[in-house]
Amino acid sequence: MSKATPKLGKSKHGKPMHYSVGALIEKDGKYLLIDRNVPPLGFAGPAGHVDEGETAEQALAREVEEESGLKIEKCKLIAEEELDWNWCVKGIGVHYWYLFSCEASGELKRGHRETKSAGWYSIEEIKKLKSEKRLEPVWQYWFEKLGLI
Ligand SMILES: [Zn+2]
Repeated sequence: MSKATPKLGKSKHGKPMHYSVGALIEKDGKYLLIDRNVPPLGFAGPAGHVDEGETAEQALAREVEEESGLKIEKCKLIAEEELDWNWCVKGIGVHYWYLFSCEASGELKRGHRETKSAGWYSIEEIKKLKSEKRLEPVWQYWFEKLGLI
């Protein structure tokens, strides 16, 4: 969690809204997931708020590095959407998401504050996490929307 202030906007229904970025990082058929230590709990891709004065790409690089130790080499926006059921610990109930497909380099090491573990998971393993209700809801939504699970 950054000390900076998340960028605040208004949803299409006039509610306070934050902006979020998420990184879908695939390597050899496996996807990087972290086990979140802060609510919403569950297994998720590296993700976080876009802070005031920051671009989505800057937020993405910062969050990926904080949560996994990896450095983004390439990224491509693959989805963006206002999700009015996605809340955060700061009490905001709507988030506008930018989901990027990324190539990353470096050695995987979890961020100690926000992450219980970080690792690479196959589609079968991600389906199993889903069946055990251990996928973070937004990430279940993205994996399903992309047709991966
Ligand atoms: Zn938020």
